[in-house]
Amino acid sequence: MSRKNASARPGMALQARDVSLSLHGQRILHKVSLGFAAGRWTAMVGPNGAGKSTLLRALAGMDVAGQSQSGEIELLGRELKQWPGRERARSLAWLGQNQPVAGDMAVYDLVMLGRLPHQGWLAAPSRADHEAVEQALHQTQGWDWRRRSVGSLSGGERQRVLLARALAVQAEVLLMDEPLANLDPPHQADWLECVQALVESGHTVISVLHEISMALQAQELVILNQGRVLHQGACSDQGTHAALEEVFEHRLRICSIDGQWLALPRTRDVRQGLEHRQTLGPGR
Ligand code: ADP
Ligand code: MG
Repeated sequence: MSRKNASARPGMALQARDVSLSLHGQRILHKVSLGFAAGRWTAMVGPNGAGKSTLLRALAGMDVAGQSQSGEIELLGRELKQWPGRERARSLAWLGQNQPVAGDMAVYDLVMLGRLPHQGWLAAPSRADHEAVEQALHQTQGWDWRRRSVGSLSGGERQRVLLARALAVQAEVLLMDEPLANLDPPHQADWLECVQALVESGHTVISVLHEISMALQAQELVILNQGRVLHQGACSDQGTHAALEEVFEHRLRICSIDGQWLALPRTRDVRQGLEHRQTLGPGR
């Protein structure tokens, strides 16, 4: 049996084995081994500069200038490099952090770019392409802007259009880097509903989030620190909460309200009070 077959885990949408990555000679990721379960939502968190975006890009098979990489990445049971480009682009959709877009492009046309992997060379978009774009724009409440230029949108509106482009791909696996950037609370809740619906219909979602309370709504949490995996576990798991508190230097605490996990800031005053009570012992 080959090494690949021996180590493949069933039910994994994406799997990284011993992935190390350097940028311009500086090591960013250190032997990262992780499995992302199919049909689940995994959130990835960690301090600024932990390597979250770098890892997500590596999982998507993206190269940037000055990058050298080792290790293996498997998408849906096949080595990433073995996928024909268009087939891979139909199976894995990407929403990047601060993605540059042509400001003079119409919203509808930008979302249609998500259909490129489905279209023949220079072929006009099919009815299925138009339906996918329309559905994605309705899902993100962007339909009314379809004729506007992307450059005329606010940051949050633009982010929703980029989400629509990723949704229009109708890929089995979606990777999103800071998808909530600039979104107000109602649209954050919409995003949450959208991800939950995707997962219910069998898709796999992996999202980098810096909003820890939102990340805790996922099923699985991966915590990165200094280019290494510090923890992977269920969002409801106490070990995961302890690891979160540790990686963020105990400056947050995890609580539950109406069955939902939340992260609240822990100020130094609160922390000192707690430590004081602990030294006094129970009953004080
Ligand atoms: P995160 O998304 O967790 O905030 P990133 O993956 O963007 O972190 O960055 C991880 C580390 O890689 C950071 O220390 C960052 O400064 C460094 N880095 C990112 N891009 C480059 C680059 N082009 N050259 C050198 N270092 C880089
Ligand atoms: Mg980042």
